[in-house]
Amino acid sequence: MRILIVEDDRLLGDGLCQGLRASGFSADWLTDGAAADAALAAGDVDLIVLDLGLPGRDGLHWLRHWRRRAERVPVLILTARGELAERIAGLDAGADDYLVKPVPLAELAARIRALLRRSHARPEPVWTHGALRFETDSRRVFWRGRPVELAPRETALLELLLASPQRVLSRATLQQRLYHFEQDIDSNALEVHVHHLRRKLHPAIVRTVRGVGYALGPADAGSAR
Ligand code: CA
Repeated sequence: MRILIVEDDRLLGDGLCQGLRASGFSADWLTDGAAADAALAAGDVDLIVLDLGLPGRDGLHWLRHWRRRAERVPVLILTARGELAERIAGLDAGADDYLVKPVPLAELAARIRALLRRSHARPEPVWTHGALRFETDSRRVFWRGRPVELAPRETALLELLLASPQRVLSRATLQQRLYHFEQDIDSNALEVHVHHLRRKLHPAIVRTVRGVGYALGPADAGSAR
């Protein structure tokens, strides 16, 4: 899942970005709202962590701007502004959650996971699909009850497919949500991850939709026989 962090404090922004990447997210860190607005317009973003005190227009301005144009991306405000009136204003401007700094990384990651589950209409913390079981908190994967070792990006790809089980996800969408800005994307990398998922789980777990992208395979993939 791709997270944009909008934070002008360099130490905090860098720390959040590294911490969220270590928690399994594809995270990018930007230092002002205009850059976040451009990133949002340019591609798929699953969630924004938004500071309020920013250079130029503040976070509330950008949040209102996004909601006015019916941008549905979940926004979690993470700010030093902790007054009751400020928290209410943030939520009423369209934020999905409001946290006052400092917040332990583990709690921030858990709140992000909760918002992402809701935004994908899969509120249950454990996602199952036939013989497959994915624990969204620990990011552990099981096939027919047995744990399966997946590389972090293989897990991230599986998570994206499970989050939208009815959808065909284009190659561009998957690449944008799997990789952050600075990463060079090998054009074959996606195919390699798909290949590994099929090998480690089941050949039918990922369906290729020719000329478009990939979708989750049928739930009965790997059922008895
Ligand atoms: Ca700030």
